[in-house]
Amino acid sequence: LLMLGIETSCDDTAAAVVRGDGEILSQVVSSQEDLLVKWGGVSPKMAEEAHALAIDQVVQKALDDANVSESDLSAVAVTVGPGLSLCLRVGVHKARQIAKAFRLPIVGVHHMEAHALVSRLVNKDLDFPFLALLISGGHNLLVLAHGLGQYVQLGTTIDDAIGEAYDKSARWLGLDMRKGGGPALEQLALEGDPNAVEFRVPMRQHKDCNFSYAGLKTQVRLAIESRNIPADEIPISSATEEDRQLRANIAASFQRVAVLHLEERCQRAVEWALKMDSSIKYFVVSGGVASNQYVRTSLNHIAEKNDLQLVCPPPRLCTDNGVMIAWTGLEHFIAGRFDDPPAVDEPDDMQYDLRPRWPLGEEYSEGRSVAR
Ligand code: ATP
Ligand code: FE
Repeated sequence: LLMLGIETSCDDTAAAVVRGDGEILSQVVSSQEDLLVKWGGVSPKMAEEAHALAIDQVVQKALDDANVSESDLSAVAVTVGPGLSLCLRVGVHKARQIAKAFRLPIVGVHHMEAHALVSRLVNKDLDFPFLALLISGGHNLLVLAHGLGQYVQLGTTIDDAIGEAYDKSARWLGLDMRKGGGPALEQLALEGDPNAVEFRVPMRQHKDCNFSYAGLKTQVRLAIESRNIPADEIPISSATEEDRQLRANIAASFQRVAVLHLEERCQRAVEWALKMDSSIKYFVVSGGVASNQYVRTSLNHIAEKNDLQLVCPPPRLCTDNGVMIAWTGLEHFIAGRFDDPPAVDEPDDMQYDLRPRWPLGEEYSEGRSVAR
């Protein structure tokens, strides 16, 4: 079995070829970091254009690096949601073009399920059911994974995701955003005192598994302003030593509280999950923010404390990538869940069935699950 995976849901154009046994034959990512740095974010239209410019080359390179051609593939997997429709459309269009020309089945993949399931490529012993924390730029999910496509959502964010808080804080601190705000802030935090600034831990009064990062973000902004740190005008590279230390202290204090919030909600989720299914042995942590070393270490403590084994994919499989799409495609394909190749006369400008908003499983709250 050979699966091509294509991912264009957000701001990275990615493709990969993965073999049925989980061997990664190629992995290509083209990111829009220049746009991010220049504009401070990506508008859907700009992102769509960047994907459209990159997609052919990225897919071709994934095939070339794997030393295969389209006709060697068993099927094509592509992210169909959640994400920006304009962006998703670019990937789906490419996938269908290939599938149409080479008569290949198509597997539509849920981006967040892919973040979770890539852990099964990494650890072949990892069976369902397991608990997963998925932390990225747009999502902050705690789910109980019962099986392929079967998830119960224990918690989500009521406002921002942790990755968004990292990104904004990094920007406000005047960090170099070229490698992404998260990694830059993690780096600077190493120089700071994590107890220097007293940020409030969010949502302590809510005894559930939901998250909130908007308030912490505001606290960071206020901490910068109240110390008169000139981060808006002076990048960290030109800051005086004293200024740099102040910024590092804010970064370290932010990170401590941001991750403490994760730990507290995860501890409760473990308790909920074990009550629902005492056979759970694994705790999966994935998504872009899971590439953070401090996050990994902290959540490993939670796992150990509860006799669970932490599975955290290597950093390049935590951030958006084509491997997780190809792998999740393989899992569904093997289970018989895929679509037939597109009709030979399918028009190029067809309206595809995209799922920009696609919840990962039903919601659960204190003993009752609520179907949407
Ligand atoms: P989503 O998966 O919700 O659609 P996304 O696809 O944009 O969002 P990912 O690539 O999964 O996001 O994750 C990107 C996020 O991870 C960004 O917010 C980025 O700052 C964050 N991130 C990446 N590396 C680190 C790190 N070392 N520390 C903290 N955050 C990080
Ligand atoms: Fe993602």
